[in-house]
Amino acid sequence: MKLSLETIEELDWCLDQLETIQTHRSVSDMASLKFKRMLNKELSHFSESSKSGNQISEYICSTFLDKQQELDLPALRVEETEPRGATAKRKERGPGRVVPMSHISGVKRPLTHTNSFTGETLPKYGVQAPNEEALGKTLAEIDRWGIDIFKIAELSVNKPLTVVAYSAFQNRDLLKTFMIPAKTLVSFMLTLEEHYVKDNPFHNSTHAADVTQSTHVLLNTAALESVFTPLEIMAALFAATIHDVDHPGLTNQFLVNSSSELALMYNDESVLENHHLAVAFKLLQNEGCDIFLNLSKKQRQTLRKMTIDMVLSTDMSKHMSLLADLKTMVETKKVAGSGVLLLDNYTDRIQVLENLVHCADLSNPTKPLPLYRRWVELLMEEFFQQGDKEREANMDISPMCDRHSATIEKSQVGFIDYIVHPLWETWADLVHPDAQDILDMLEQNRDWYQSMIPPSPPPADSQDSDEEKERPHEDIRFQVTLEEGESEEGTTM
Ligand SMILES: [Zn+2]
Repeated sequence: MKLSLETIEELDWCLDQLETIQTHRSVSDMASLKFKRMLNKELSHFSESSKSGNQISEYICSTFLDKQQELDLPALRVEETEPRGATAKRKERGPGRVVPMSHISGVKRPLTHTNSFTGETLPKYGVQAPNEEALGKTLAEIDRWGIDIFKIAELSVNKPLTVVAYSAFQNRDLLKTFMIPAKTLVSFMLTLEEHYVKDNPFHNSTHAADVTQSTHVLLNTAALESVFTPLEIMAALFAATIHDVDHPGLTNQFLVNSSSELALMYNDESVLENHHLAVAFKLLQNEGCDIFLNLSKKQRQTLRKMTIDMVLSTDMSKHMSLLADLKTMVETKKVAGSGVLLLDNYTDRIQVLENLVHCADLSNPTKPLPLYRRWVELLMEEFFQQGDKEREANMDISPMCDRHSATIEKSQVGFIDYIVHPLWETWADLVHPDAQDILDMLEQNRDWYQSMIPPSPPPADSQDSDEEKERPHEDIRFQVTLEEGESEEGTTM
Protein backbone atom coordinates (compact mmCIF):
# COMPACT_ATOMS: atom_id res chain seq x y z
CA MET A 1 0.00 0.00 0.00
CA LYS A 2 1.55 3.29 -1.06
CA LEU A 3 -0.02 5.94 1.10
CA SER A 4 1.97 9.07 1.65
CA LEU A 5 3.30 9.30 5.16
CA GLU A 6 1.88 12.78 5.47
CA THR A 7 -1.62 11.63 4.76
CA ILE A 8 -1.43 8.80 7.23
CA GLU A 9 -0.20 11.22 9.84
CA GLU A 10 -2.87 13.69 8.86
CA LEU A 11 -5.67 11.18 9.24
CA ASP A 12 -4.13 9.76 12.37
CA TRP A 13 -3.86 13.21 13.74
CA CYS A 14 -7.54 13.90 13.08
CA LEU A 15 -8.50 10.78 14.98
CA ASP A 16 -6.21 11.65 17.87
CA GLN A 17 -7.72 15.10 18.06
CA LEU A 18 -11.19 13.68 18.04
CA GLU A 19 -10.32 11.36 20.93
CA THR A 20 -9.11 14.28 23.00
CA ILE A 21 -12.37 16.18 22.69
CA GLN A 22 -14.39 13.23 23.94
CA THR A 23 -14.80 14.93 27.27
CA HIS A 24 -17.59 16.97 25.70
CA ARG A 25 -20.86 15.41 26.66
CA SER A 26 -23.65 17.24 24.90
CA VAL A 27 -25.69 15.24 22.39
CA SER A 28 -24.66 17.31 19.42
CA ASP A 29 -21.01 17.23 20.41
CA MET A 30 -21.19 13.47 20.57
CA ALA A 31 -23.03 13.31 17.27
CA SER A 32 -20.49 15.64 15.74
CA LEU A 33 -17.66 13.52 17.08
CA LYS A 34 -19.24 10.46 15.61
CA PHE A 35 -19.61 12.04 12.18
CA LYS A 36 -16.04 13.19 12.18
CA ARG A 37 -14.87 9.75 13.11
CA MET A 38 -16.96 8.11 10.45
CA LEU A 39 -15.83 10.60 7.86
CA ASN A 40 -12.23 9.89 8.80
CA LYS A 41 -12.77 6.18 8.45
CA GLU A 42 -14.35 6.73 5.05
CA LEU A 43 -11.59 9.04 3.94
CA SER A 44 -8.84 6.69 4.96
CA HIS A 45 -10.46 3.99 2.79
CA PHE A 46 -10.82 6.48 -0.01
CA SER A 47 -7.25 7.70 0.19
CA GLU A 48 -6.02 4.12 0.09
CA SER A 49 -7.73 3.61 -3.25
CA SER A 50 -5.39 5.86 -5.25
CA LYS A 51 -3.03 8.79 -5.31
CA SER A 52 -5.74 11.25 -6.33
CA GLY A 53 -8.07 9.88 -3.67
CA ASN A 54 -5.27 10.69 -1.31
CA GLN A 55 -5.18 14.33 -2.31
CA ILE A 56 -8.96 14.64 -2.24
CA SER A 57 -9.23 13.16 1.23
CA GLU A 58 -6.50 15.50 2.40
CA TYR A 59 -8.49 18.40 0.97
CA ILE A 60 -11.71 17.30 2.65
CA CYS A 61 -9.99 16.63 5.96
CA SER A 62 -8.25 19.98 5.98
CA THR A 63 -11.25 22.00 4.80
CA PHE A 64 -14.29 20.50 6.47
CA LEU A 65 -12.91 19.23 9.77
CA ASP A 66 -12.21 21.75 12.46
CA LYS A 67 -8.68 20.62 13.09
CA GLN A 68 -7.12 24.04 13.50
CA GLN A 69 -3.35 23.85 13.88
CA GLU A 70 -1.14 20.90 14.48
CA LEU A 71 -0.61 21.37 18.16
CA ASP A 72 2.71 20.46 19.62
CA LEU A 73 1.45 18.70 22.70
CA PRO A 74 3.49 16.08 24.55
CA ALA A 75 0.86 13.39 24.00
CA LEU A 76 0.66 14.10 20.30
CA ARG A 77 3.40 13.67 17.71
CA VAL A 78 6.31 14.36 20.03
CA GLU A 79 8.71 13.92 17.15
CA GLU A 80 7.31 16.88 15.27
CA THR A 81 8.75 19.91 16.98
CA GLU A 82 8.41 22.16 13.95
CA PRO A 83 5.60 21.98 11.44
CA ARG A 84 6.61 20.95 7.96
CA GLY A 85 7.81 23.79 5.78
CA ALA A 86 7.92 26.20 8.69
CA THR A 87 11.21 27.69 7.65
CA ALA A 88 10.04 28.32 4.13
CA LYS A 89 6.87 29.90 5.49
CA ARG A 90 8.85 32.19 7.76
CA LYS A 91 10.98 33.33 4.85
CA GLU A 92 7.89 33.87 2.72
CA ARG A 93 6.27 36.14 5.28
CA GLY A 94 8.68 38.97 4.69
CA PRO A 95 8.07 42.58 5.67
CA GLY A 96 4.42 43.00 4.74
CA ARG A 97 2.19 46.02 4.80
CA VAL A 98 1.53 46.79 8.44
CA VAL A 99 -1.88 48.13 9.35
CA PRO A 100 -2.83 49.28 12.81
CA MET A 101 -4.82 46.57 14.54
CA SER A 102 -7.79 48.84 15.21
CA HIS A 103 -8.28 49.38 11.49
CA ILE A 104 -10.55 47.11 9.46
CA SER A 105 -8.57 46.46 6.32
CA GLY A 106 -10.22 46.40 2.94
CA VAL A 107 -12.74 49.16 3.61
CA LYS A 108 -12.48 51.71 0.83
CA ARG A 109 -13.20 55.40 1.12
CA PRO A 110 -16.86 56.04 0.36
CA LEU A 111 -17.25 56.79 -3.32
CA THR A 112 -20.22 59.06 -3.16
CA HIS A 113 -20.36 59.71 -6.86
CA THR A 114 -20.93 56.08 -7.74
CA ASN A 115 -22.88 54.85 -4.77
CA SER A 116 -25.51 57.38 -4.00
CA PHE A 117 -28.31 58.84 -5.95
CA THR A 118 -28.78 62.52 -6.38
CA GLY A 119 -31.58 62.10 -8.89
CA GLU A 120 -35.23 61.74 -7.98
CA THR A 121 -35.85 58.23 -9.19
CA LEU A 122 -33.98 55.02 -8.81
CA PRO A 123 -33.57 52.73 -11.79
CA LYS A 124 -36.31 50.08 -11.69
CA TYR A 125 -34.01 47.26 -10.60
CA GLY A 126 -31.60 49.41 -8.62
CA VAL A 127 -28.89 49.80 -11.27
CA GLN A 128 -28.61 51.34 -14.72
CA ALA A 129 -28.96 48.53 -17.20
CA PRO A 130 -28.76 48.98 -20.97
CA ASN A 131 -31.31 46.22 -21.47
CA GLU A 132 -33.67 46.75 -18.56
CA GLU A 133 -36.40 44.63 -20.07
CA ALA A 134 -34.23 41.55 -20.39
CA LEU A 135 -32.93 42.08 -16.85
CA GLY A 136 -36.51 42.32 -15.59
CA LYS A 137 -37.44 39.13 -17.39
CA THR A 138 -34.59 37.20 -15.78
CA LEU A 139 -35.19 38.71 -12.34
CA ALA A 140 -38.85 37.68 -12.59
CA GLU A 141 -37.56 34.17 -12.07
CA ILE A 142 -35.91 35.00 -8.78
CA ASP A 143 -38.00 32.37 -6.95
CA ARG A 144 -36.66 29.57 -9.15
CA TRP A 145 -33.84 27.22 -8.10
CA GLY A 146 -31.27 27.26 -10.89
CA ILE A 147 -31.89 30.77 -12.23
CA ASP A 148 -29.04 31.85 -14.54
CA ILE A 149 -27.10 34.10 -12.18
CA PHE A 150 -24.31 34.64 -14.73
CA LYS A 151 -26.85 36.13 -17.11
CA ILE A 152 -28.05 38.43 -14.34
CA ALA A 153 -24.43 39.49 -13.82
CA GLU A 154 -24.17 40.40 -17.51
CA LEU A 155 -27.51 42.17 -17.75
CA SER A 156 -26.86 44.20 -14.60
CA VAL A 157 -23.43 45.24 -15.90
CA ASN A 158 -21.70 43.27 -13.16
CA LYS A 159 -23.98 44.31 -10.31
CA PRO A 160 -25.74 40.97 -9.74
CA LEU A 161 -25.66 41.26 -5.96
CA THR A 162 -27.35 44.66 -5.91
CA VAL A 163 -30.17 43.69 -8.26
CA VAL A 164 -30.79 40.29 -6.63
CA ALA A 165 -30.81 41.69 -3.10
CA TYR A 166 -32.98 44.65 -4.13
CA SER A 167 -35.49 42.31 -5.80
CA ALA A 168 -35.58 39.87 -2.90
CA PHE A 169 -36.07 42.65 -0.33
CA GLN A 170 -38.80 44.23 -2.47
CA ASN A 171 -40.65 41.00 -3.22
CA ARG A 172 -40.76 40.29 0.49
CA ASP A 173 -41.93 43.78 1.37
CA LEU A 174 -38.97 44.25 3.68
CA LEU A 175 -38.55 47.91 2.69
CA LYS A 176 -42.02 48.71 3.99
CA THR A 177 -41.86 46.45 7.03
CA PHE A 178 -38.60 47.93 8.26
CA MET A 179 -38.93 51.38 6.72
CA ILE A 180 -35.81 51.04 4.61
CA PRO A 181 -35.54 53.85 2.07
CA ALA A 182 -35.01 52.31 -1.37
CA LYS A 183 -32.08 54.63 -2.03
CA THR A 184 -30.40 53.52 1.18
CA LEU A 185 -30.80 49.86 0.31
CA VAL A 186 -29.37 50.38 -3.17
CA SER A 187 -26.52 52.56 -1.86
CA PHE A 188 -25.58 49.94 0.70
CA MET A 189 -25.76 47.08 -1.78
CA LEU A 190 -23.67 48.95 -4.36
CA THR A 191 -21.08 49.75 -1.70
CA LEU A 192 -21.09 46.16 -0.50
CA GLU A 193 -20.80 44.86 -4.05
CA GLU A 194 -17.86 47.17 -4.67
CA HIS A 195 -16.09 45.53 -1.74
CA TYR A 196 -16.26 42.10 -3.31
CA VAL A 197 -13.00 41.46 -5.16
CA LYS A 198 -13.74 41.54 -8.90
CA ASP A 199 -10.57 39.69 -9.82
CA ASN A 200 -11.42 36.58 -7.80
CA PRO A 201 -12.51 33.87 -10.20
CA PHE A 202 -14.99 32.46 -7.65
CA HIS A 203 -15.35 34.55 -4.51
CA ASN A 204 -16.73 37.65 -6.21
CA SER A 205 -20.12 39.34 -6.08
CA THR A 206 -21.69 36.85 -8.48
CA HIS A 207 -21.11 34.13 -5.89
CA ALA A 208 -22.68 36.39 -3.24
CA ALA A 209 -25.65 37.03 -5.53
CA ASP A 210 -25.95 33.29 -6.11
CA VAL A 211 -25.95 32.50 -2.39
CA THR A 212 -28.44 35.33 -1.75
CA GLN A 213 -30.81 34.09 -4.43
CA SER A 214 -30.47 30.48 -3.22
CA THR A 215 -31.15 31.60 0.36
CA HIS A 216 -34.21 33.47 -0.91
CA VAL A 217 -35.55 30.31 -2.56
CA LEU A 218 -34.84 28.09 0.45
CA LEU A 219 -36.67 30.54 2.73
CA ASN A 220 -39.74 29.99 0.55
CA THR A 221 -39.82 26.26 1.22
CA ALA A 222 -43.30 25.08 2.26
CA ALA A 223 -42.12 23.41 5.47
CA LEU A 224 -40.86 26.79 6.69
CA GLU A 225 -43.95 28.79 5.80
CA SER A 226 -44.65 31.40 8.50
CA VAL A 227 -41.93 29.83 10.66
CA PHE A 228 -39.55 32.80 10.54
CA THR A 229 -40.25 36.41 11.43
CA PRO A 230 -39.59 39.17 8.89
CA LEU A 231 -36.54 40.15 10.98
CA GLU A 232 -35.11 36.63 10.76
CA ILE A 233 -35.79 36.50 7.03
CA MET A 234 -34.09 39.83 6.51
CA ALA A 235 -31.13 38.68 8.64
CA ALA A 236 -30.72 35.53 6.54
CA LEU A 237 -30.80 37.48 3.28
CA PHE A 238 -28.45 40.11 4.68
CA ALA A 239 -26.05 37.42 5.93
CA ALA A 240 -26.03 35.86 2.46
CA THR A 241 -25.26 39.18 0.75
CA ILE A 242 -22.31 39.96 3.01
CA HIS A 243 -20.99 36.45 3.70
CA ASP A 244 -17.84 36.65 1.52
CA VAL A 245 -17.24 40.39 1.20
CA ASP A 246 -13.59 41.39 0.59
CA HIS A 247 -12.64 37.71 0.25
CA PRO A 248 -9.01 37.73 -0.94
CA GLY A 249 -9.35 34.53 -2.99
CA LEU A 250 -7.20 32.63 -0.50
CA THR A 251 -8.25 30.06 2.09
CA ASN A 252 -8.24 30.48 5.86
CA GLN A 253 -5.39 28.00 6.02
CA PHE A 254 -3.30 30.01 3.60
CA LEU A 255 -3.88 33.17 5.62
CA VAL A 256 -2.91 31.38 8.82
CA ASN A 257 0.11 29.63 7.31
CA SER A 258 1.45 32.86 5.84
CA SER A 259 0.91 34.82 9.09
CA SER A 260 -1.21 37.34 7.25
CA GLU A 261 -2.50 40.51 8.86
CA LEU A 262 -5.98 39.03 8.87
CA ALA A 263 -4.89 35.88 10.69
CA LEU A 264 -3.12 38.03 13.27
CA MET A 265 -6.18 40.21 13.67
CA TYR A 266 -8.48 37.26 14.34
CA ASN A 267 -6.05 34.92 16.09
CA ASP A 268 -6.40 32.26 13.38
CA GLU A 269 -10.04 31.57 14.22
CA SER A 270 -12.53 31.78 11.31
CA VAL A 271 -10.28 34.51 9.92
CA LEU A 272 -12.15 35.22 6.70
CA GLU A 273 -15.63 34.96 8.18
CA ASN A 274 -14.78 37.39 10.98
CA HIS A 275 -13.38 39.76 8.37
CA HIS A 276 -16.46 39.59 6.12
CA LEU A 277 -18.62 40.52 9.12
CA ALA A 278 -16.40 43.36 10.25
CA VAL A 279 -16.22 44.88 6.78
CA ALA A 280 -19.98 44.62 6.25
CA PHE A 281 -20.95 46.18 9.57
CA LYS A 282 -18.40 48.91 8.97
CA LEU A 283 -19.94 49.66 5.56
CA LEU A 284 -23.36 50.11 7.19
CA GLN A 285 -21.81 53.16 8.88
CA ASN A 286 -21.08 54.85 5.56
CA GLU A 287 -23.26 57.86 4.98
CA GLY A 288 -26.60 56.93 3.50
CA CYS A 289 -25.91 53.21 3.85
CA ASP A 290 -27.55 52.26 7.15
CA ILE A 291 -30.43 50.11 5.98
CA PHE A 292 -31.29 49.27 9.60
CA LEU A 293 -31.68 52.90 10.61
CA ASN A 294 -35.38 52.57 11.48
CA LEU A 295 -35.14 49.35 13.45
CA SER A 296 -35.60 49.42 17.20
CA LYS A 297 -32.52 48.96 19.34
CA LYS A 298 -33.64 45.46 20.24
CA GLN A 299 -34.25 44.55 16.58
CA ARG A 300 -30.80 45.82 15.63
CA GLN A 301 -29.19 43.78 18.38
CA THR A 302 -31.05 40.64 17.41
CA LEU A 303 -30.32 41.11 13.73
CA ARG A 304 -26.64 41.67 14.42
CA LYS A 305 -26.39 38.56 16.57
CA MET A 306 -28.19 36.39 14.03
CA THR A 307 -26.07 37.73 11.17
CA ILE A 308 -22.86 37.02 13.07
CA ASP A 309 -24.01 33.48 13.89
CA MET A 310 -24.95 32.76 10.29
CA VAL A 311 -21.82 34.18 8.65
CA LEU A 312 -19.49 32.49 11.15
CA SER A 313 -21.12 29.17 10.33
CA THR A 314 -20.19 29.57 6.67
CA ASP A 315 -16.66 28.65 7.81
CA MET A 316 -16.36 25.26 6.12
CA SER A 317 -14.44 23.85 9.08
CA LYS A 318 -17.71 24.13 11.05
CA HIS A 319 -19.48 21.91 8.54
CA MET A 320 -19.44 18.69 10.55
CA SER A 321 -20.76 20.26 13.76
CA LEU A 322 -23.47 22.07 11.82
CA LEU A 323 -24.51 18.87 10.08
CA ALA A 324 -24.50 16.93 13.33
CA ASP A 325 -26.80 19.50 14.93
CA LEU A 326 -29.11 19.36 11.95
CA LYS A 327 -29.19 15.54 12.11
CA THR A 328 -30.08 15.69 15.77
CA MET A 329 -32.84 18.16 14.97
CA VAL A 330 -34.26 15.95 12.21
CA GLU A 331 -34.29 12.97 14.61
CA THR A 332 -36.33 14.93 17.13
CA LYS A 333 -38.26 16.97 14.59
CA LYS A 334 -41.40 18.62 15.87
CA VAL A 335 -44.05 19.51 13.34
CA ALA A 336 -47.15 21.61 13.82
CA GLY A 337 -50.59 20.41 12.71
CA SER A 338 -50.23 22.23 9.41
CA GLY A 339 -47.04 20.34 8.64
CA VAL A 340 -44.66 23.25 9.19
CA LEU A 341 -41.68 22.96 11.52
CA LEU A 342 -42.04 23.91 15.14
CA LEU A 343 -39.02 25.88 16.33
CA ASP A 344 -39.69 27.34 19.74
CA ASN A 345 -36.30 28.67 20.89
CA TYR A 346 -33.41 30.76 19.55
CA THR A 347 -30.99 27.82 19.38
CA ASP A 348 -33.27 25.79 17.12
CA ARG A 349 -34.27 28.72 14.98
CA ILE A 350 -30.74 29.97 14.35
CA GLN A 351 -29.57 26.43 13.74
CA VAL A 352 -32.01 26.03 10.87
CA LEU A 353 -31.04 29.43 9.47
CA GLU A 354 -27.31 28.65 9.76
CA ASN A 355 -27.83 25.41 7.89
CA LEU A 356 -30.01 27.13 5.33
CA VAL A 357 -27.31 29.67 4.46
CA HIS A 358 -24.64 26.95 4.57
CA CYS A 359 -26.74 24.87 2.13
CA ALA A 360 -27.04 27.90 -0.14
CA ASP A 361 -23.25 28.34 0.07
CA LEU A 362 -22.82 24.67 -0.91
CA SER A 363 -25.52 24.67 -3.57
CA ASN A 364 -23.43 24.74 -6.76
CA PRO A 365 -23.60 20.94 -7.22
CA THR A 366 -27.41 21.05 -6.91
CA LYS A 367 -27.86 23.48 -9.79
CA PRO A 368 -28.40 22.63 -13.48
CA LEU A 369 -25.22 21.02 -14.80
CA PRO A 370 -24.02 23.89 -17.05
CA LEU A 371 -24.15 26.27 -14.08
CA TYR A 372 -22.49 23.76 -11.75
CA ARG A 373 -19.68 23.10 -14.24
CA ARG A 374 -19.04 26.79 -14.63
CA TRP A 375 -18.76 27.22 -10.85
CA VAL A 376 -16.35 24.28 -10.64
CA GLU A 377 -14.08 25.84 -13.26
CA LEU A 378 -14.09 29.15 -11.43
CA LEU A 379 -13.39 27.63 -8.02
CA MET A 380 -10.59 25.45 -9.36
CA GLU A 381 -9.00 28.47 -11.02
CA GLU A 382 -9.07 30.31 -7.68
CA PHE A 383 -7.53 27.30 -5.93
CA PHE A 384 -4.86 27.02 -8.63
CA GLN A 385 -3.96 30.68 -8.28
CA GLN A 386 -3.42 30.08 -4.58
CA GLY A 387 -1.34 27.01 -5.46
CA ASP A 388 0.78 29.14 -7.83
CA LYS A 389 1.38 31.60 -5.00
CA GLU A 390 2.35 28.79 -2.66
CA ARG A 391 4.72 27.27 -5.23
CA GLU A 392 6.36 30.61 -5.82
CA ALA A 393 6.79 31.20 -2.09
CA ASN A 394 8.20 27.73 -1.53
CA MET A 395 5.30 26.83 0.72
CA ASP A 396 3.58 23.45 0.74
CA ILE A 397 0.96 23.51 -1.98
CA SER A 398 -2.48 23.08 -0.43
CA PRO A 399 -4.49 20.03 -1.44
CA MET A 400 -6.46 20.57 -4.70
CA CYS A 401 -4.48 23.74 -5.41
CA ASP A 402 -1.77 22.27 -7.64
CA ARG A 403 -2.81 22.83 -11.25
CA HIS A 404 -0.42 20.12 -12.37
CA SER A 405 -1.88 17.32 -10.29
CA ALA A 406 -5.48 18.11 -9.33
CA THR A 407 -8.14 15.66 -10.40
CA ILE A 408 -11.21 17.80 -10.89
CA GLU A 409 -13.91 15.28 -11.75
CA LYS A 410 -12.96 12.81 -9.09
CA SER A 411 -12.70 15.52 -6.47
CA GLN A 412 -16.23 16.68 -7.26
CA VAL A 413 -17.52 13.15 -6.74
CA GLY A 414 -15.69 12.94 -3.40
CA PHE A 415 -16.89 16.41 -2.42
CA ILE A 416 -20.50 15.45 -3.15
CA ASP A 417 -20.29 12.03 -1.51
CA TYR A 418 -18.62 13.17 1.71
CA ILE A 419 -19.86 16.71 2.17
CA VAL A 420 -22.59 18.01 -0.10
CA HIS A 421 -24.89 14.98 -0.34
CA PRO A 422 -24.95 14.23 3.41
CA LEU A 423 -25.85 17.89 4.03
CA TRP A 424 -28.57 18.15 1.41
CA GLU A 425 -30.00 14.76 2.28
CA THR A 426 -30.41 15.93 5.86
CA TRP A 427 -31.88 19.25 4.76
CA ALA A 428 -34.31 17.34 2.52
CA ASP A 429 -35.32 15.23 5.54
CA LEU A 430 -35.97 18.38 7.53
CA VAL A 431 -38.23 19.97 4.92
CA HIS A 432 -39.55 16.76 3.38
CA PRO A 433 -40.66 16.55 0.60
CA ASP A 434 -39.82 20.10 -0.53
CA ALA A 435 -36.18 19.52 -1.52
CA GLN A 436 -36.63 16.30 -3.50
CA ASP A 437 -35.97 17.95 -6.87
CA ILE A 438 -32.80 19.55 -5.53
CA LEU A 439 -31.57 16.20 -4.25
CA ASP A 440 -32.40 14.50 -7.57
CA MET A 441 -30.41 17.13 -9.48
CA LEU A 442 -27.48 16.67 -7.12
CA GLU A 443 -27.44 12.91 -7.67
CA GLN A 444 -27.71 13.33 -11.42
CA ASN A 445 -24.79 15.77 -11.43
CA ARG A 446 -22.76 13.45 -9.23
CA ASP A 447 -23.24 10.62 -11.71
CA TRP A 448 -22.21 12.88 -14.57
CA TYR A 449 -18.93 13.80 -12.86
CA GLN A 450 -18.41 10.13 -11.98
CA SER A 451 -18.79 9.24 -15.66
CA MET A 452 -16.28 11.94 -16.61
CA ILE A 453 -13.46 10.63 -14.39
CA PRO A 454 -10.66 10.00 -16.87
CA PRO A 455 -9.13 6.53 -16.90
CA SER A 456 -5.88 6.57 -14.97
CA PRO A 457 -2.62 6.51 -16.91
CA PRO A 458 -0.78 3.18 -16.94
CA PRO A 459 1.43 2.79 -13.86
CA ALA A 460 4.90 4.20 -14.42
CA ASP A 461 6.52 1.72 -12.09
CA SER A 462 5.46 -1.91 -12.26
CA GLN A 463 6.30 -2.33 -8.59
CA ASP A 464 3.45 -0.10 -7.64
CA SER A 465 1.02 -1.36 -10.22
CA ASP A 466 -1.43 -2.99 -7.82
CA GLU A 467 -1.67 -0.08 -5.47
CA GLU A 468 -1.61 2.70 -8.03
CA LYS A 469 -4.30 1.32 -10.28
CA GLU A 470 -7.35 3.51 -10.13
CA ARG A 471 -10.83 2.15 -10.39
CA PRO A 472 -12.47 4.68 -12.67
CA HIS A 473 -16.01 3.58 -11.90
CA GLU A 474 -15.61 2.62 -8.31
CA ASP A 475 -18.70 3.56 -6.35
CA ILE A 476 -17.59 5.65 -3.44
CA ARG A 477 -21.01 6.82 -2.39
CA PHE A 478 -21.67 6.55 1.30
CA GLN A 479 -24.27 7.71 3.70
CA VAL A 480 -23.89 9.24 7.08
CA THR A 481 -26.39 7.81 9.48
CA LEU A 482 -26.94 8.43 13.13
CA GLU A 483 -27.87 4.91 14.16
CA GLU A 484 -25.60 3.13 16.59
CA GLY A 485 -23.08 0.79 15.03
CA GLU A 486 -24.13 1.92 11.59
CA SER A 487 -20.80 3.32 10.47
CA GLU A 488 -19.67 0.25 8.56
CA GLU A 489 -23.05 -0.95 7.38
CA GLY A 490 -24.08 2.44 6.06
CA THR A 491 -21.14 2.40 3.73
CA THR A 492 -20.90 1.19 0.18
CA MET A 493 -17.53 1.59 -1.40
ZN1 LIG B 1 -19.45 31.62 0.00
